[in-house]
Amino acid sequence: MATGHTIVVGGGIVGVSTAYYLARRGHRVTLVERGELGAGASGGNAGIVAIGHPPMPRPGLVRQVLKWMLNGGSPLYVPPRFDPALFRWLWDFRRACTEDKFRRSMNVLAALGRETRACFEQIMSDESMTCEFHRGGWREVFRTEAGLAEGRVAAEILQEHDFDIEILDGDELRRREPVFRDDVVGAVQYTDSSFTDPLQFLLELAEKARGHGAVLHTNARIVDTLVSGGRFRAVRLHSGEQFQGDTLVLAAGIWTTQLARQLGISVPMQAGKGYHRNVTRPSPCLGVASVLSEKHVAVTPMGDVLRLSGTVEFSGINDRLNRRRLDMLSAAARTYLKGVGQCRTVSEWCGLRPCTADGLPVVGWAPGLTGVFLATGHARMGFTLGPVTGRLASECILDGKPSVDITALRADRFGTRRRNLDTARRRGNTDMTSRV
Ligand SMILES: Cc1cc2nc3c(=O)[nH]c(=O)nc-3n(C[C@H](O)[C@H](O)[C@H](O)COP(=O)(O)OP(=O)(O)OC[C@H]3O[C@@H](n4cnc5c(N)ncnc54)[C@H](O)[C@@H]3O)c2cc1C
Repeated sequence: MATGHTIVVGGGIVGVSTAYYLARRGHRVTLVERGELGAGASGGNAGIVAIGHPPMPRPGLVRQVLKWMLNGGSPLYVPPRFDPALFRWLWDFRRACTEDKFRRSMNVLAALGRETRACFEQIMSDESMTCEFHRGGWREVFRTEAGLAEGRVAAEILQEHDFDIEILDGDELRRREPVFRDDVVGAVQYTDSSFTDPLQFLLELAEKARGHGAVLHTNARIVDTLVSGGRFRAVRLHSGEQFQGDTLVLAAGIWTTQLARQLGISVPMQAGKGYHRNVTRPSPCLGVASVLSEKHVAVTPMGDVLRLSGTVEFSGINDRLNRRRLDMLSAAARTYLKGVGQCRTVSEWCGLRPCTADGLPVVGWAPGLTGVFLATGHARMGFTLGPVTGRLASECILDGKPSVDITALRADRFGTRRRNLDTARRRGNTDMTSRV
């Protein structure tokens, strides 16, 4: 087992889970978050633990995406701009939308799904967590027969991976959830899954990590990484403070691309911006988190509010709230649910999903450098896969190998970008400090 000290960058679900699993095994770990814990995508997502959920690239999607892309009112929006990295990413995304690649990704994600369910259950019971955690699944709800037929086909793929589903017709759905309108035709319920308030879960898990000995710094931004002799040595914060360590885990969500680039490591990702609008609960409210399928909007009962969330917008790394896209969430909810029109807006938010073009996360040692581990790229599945990613990262660091085959997630699949380091060396700078 590795002794020493691990520094985790990023206080999202992936970073916090990594710190938790390392600290739980007695390892010295320091987590550094530039804002508050959960300040990135992890704090405001839909909170659905959607195990076995398929990757973003899938067969047939390209034609649909081309129709959607330039339309600001569609579920997936790409505002027109000149951005070679985005073009390259879209090209690679297109290449990933084949039946063969989809099936291969599903095999990997299904295995991770089973493991992450075990992680959530272990965390809930071992740590006596008090946050609400609703078992019994989430649903995909349809207003059209064609949508329901497609939903059945998608559900069969999960069944092939031994996940349980239940098909509900409109009447049965309304018997269970009278909030749904009469023209909703049915639902697929993914019964192995669960949902919770993602921020409450993350904050409580962070407290448990602290209880196991992890040191967590918030409002502490990493600005430099010190590498010498091809090995990670230390990070420097914006305050000038320096933390030395043996291992660096980059779990900084979409910002990992930039942090890795400074170290000569290529992790091409695009920010898939999504929104949420929390509204007061309608009466009756729904009891199970649901995705309004034709509109691609999730509705999750969360404490005192109903959270409406969704849409994907590739507009770069920014936190601008686009009102039109927020309003799309309310409009979608009104179409499926009774009483939402009268609900008051409580808060609004946007967050950036870290999206790889091939739809798979990046979990593994960085190529060409010793002691740098990457844990990111979970796109729409980061809350679901955060705990298992943290556990796998801890196994790689402490045991030298993970308990699940994660070859497909390896970090060297994008190649390397050695130029930065070489440039530093040409300048006679053997102890390279990269500014991030
Ligand atoms: C609208 C929406 C709904 C979603 N719904 C779901 C869902 O229901 N289920 C699901 O599984 N997933 C869902 N997701 C996806 C999920 O939220 C993300 O995949 C996940 O949160 C990514 O977690 P992360 O820890 O990798 O990144 P983040 O949560 O973004 O965390 C990265 C952290 O790194 C910090 N950081 C960055 N740079 C530095 C630096 N230099 N120094 C220190 N700290 C730094 C950031 O401040 C940030 O807090 C949803 C996403 C969105 C946007």
